Amino acid sequence: SFISVVAHQLRTPLSGIKWTLNMIMSGELGSITNEQKTFLLKSYESNNRMITLVNDMLDADRIQSGKLKHDLNPVDLINLLDNVLFEISPEAYKKNISIQFKDKLDKLPQVMIDSEKMRAVFQNLLENAIKYTPKGGSVKLGLKEENNELLVSISDNGIGIPKEEQKNVFNRFFRAKNAIKAETDGSGLGLFICKGIVEQHGGKIWFESEENKGTSFYFTIPFEKKI
Ligand code: ADP
Repeated sequence: SFISVVAHQLRTPLSGIKWTLNMIMSGELGSITNEQKTFLLKSYESNNRMITLVNDMLDADRIQSGKLKHDLNPVDLINLLDNVLFEISPEAYKKNISIQFKDKLDKLPQVMIDSEKMRAVFQNLLENAIKYTPKGGSVKLGLKEENNELLVSISDNGIGIPKEEQKNVFNRFFRAKNAIKAETDGSGLGLFICKGIVEQHGGKIWFESEENKGTSFYFTIPFEKKI
């Protein structure tokens, strides 16, 4: 509850900072040089990362206390995925990581999901795959229909998760030692939130991983939700 109170308190000042930086960068308060703009943009991005972190803390807290709300609607998953892939592509491009969308199904039965929440699951897993894969690696995204469910797989050939730490992967704030070494930025909240969201949609989430070989995350979305 301490985390939840602190996170709530941080939201207002953080959006204040975002608003002010936006005003300065847009030139509304007077002209600024390109160099000043570059530095302001860095602050803007850091501030955005902090807003994401605070929102993740609040979501993790809602999941923990069973208060995460969802709003189910029929959603075209291909469209949602194209959107997510577009958003993460700059990060993949920077690291020269190829993203392949295999088993692309032309037609999927519409799924009843909370599109914002499910989008966060795809985004989190794909961002992790890119984050924990060295330059020049590859990430594969697969979609399959199986037993009246959609089976999603996201595989990478990155650093993997050490065997002895695998049991903790879905715990709040968990980060494996090799992940901390490879990438300093991370809260260890993403997978806890993904699990909460997938389970709330009546699905399951799991993974297979081998250190220095790669990781595959899988999750299911039932076509007929039973919750
Ligand atoms: P974060 O990425 O912010 O540390 P997550 O909750 O998303 O937090 O992931 C928890 C931990 O699981 C990571 O710190 C890392 O140790 C491990 N992990 C998740 N995805 C991968 C992956 N694709 N490859 C290797 N390790 C991963």
